[in-house]
Amino acid sequence: MVTEGTIKTPDQMNSMIEAGKIVAKVLLECEKNLKSSISTEEIDDFLREAIKKEGAKPAFLGLYDFPATACISLNEEIVHGIPGSRKLKKGDIVSIDCGAIVDGMYSDHAKTYLIEESNNSAKGRLISVTKRALDIGVENAISGNNIGMISNTIEKYVLEQGYDVVREYVGHGIGEQLHEPPSVPNFGDKEDGALLRVGMVIAIEPMVTEGSWKTKTLDDKWTVVTEDGKLSAHFEHTVAITENGPKILTKT
Ligand code: MG
Ligand code: MG
Repeated sequence: MVTEGTIKTPDQMNSMIEAGKIVAKVLLECEKNLKSSISTEEIDDFLREAIKKEGAKPAFLGLYDFPATACISLNEEIVHGIPGSRKLKKGDIVSIDCGAIVDGMYSDHAKTYLIEESNNSAKGRLISVTKRALDIGVENAISGNNIGMISNTIEKYVLEQGYDVVREYVGHGIGEQLHEPPSVPNFGDKEDGALLRVGMVIAIEPMVTEGSWKTKTLDDKWTVVTEDGKLSAHFEHTVAITENGPKILTKT
């Protein structure tokens, strides 16, 4: 049985709780600014300053040479969109993925928003299914389960809803590094993957597509889009495995 994944010390866990709280708080604050005519760069500036004001460090800025605080991905973009002068428009779906570092420990959090359109629409449904897929994944982040319980239940739910899950990008362990073992795929068998143990922390992040799960990367070498140009949504929580079950760290 695979047992990869580090067990956090109480001090490390406390730092991760703080890092999670900060990123959840700043993303909530950021939501109020999301309207058409704001540029993705302005969103990024807001998040960078808000994280610093909380006494934390932006986790993504400069990591693997990524040039910004947040990955902001619009419509057919799945993940790793680079903020820039492009402005949001009514009807856009925008995924904001952001992290913070407190005392060397990371958090990672993403949400998808629909701009100035009723959630009671096809786009709104894609977003709510993706959010529910994350909730289902979190419910299965229990000591004694294999990661596959998370992967399999997410995949099953998403497919039942008529969507698909991205295969080429997956969730991950998190701690002293943003990306640590084990992998947390959004597909697979219940028996697959590492065994979850108390003290592990993982980032669960379903990426759901309206059409095919196949992806390609744009010439900027970062932005991952659906190959068929159809829409995609993404939600992510940093989750600790505790004696009392899953504990979402990326919440206020
Ligand atoms: Mg993320
Ligand atoms: Mg992540």
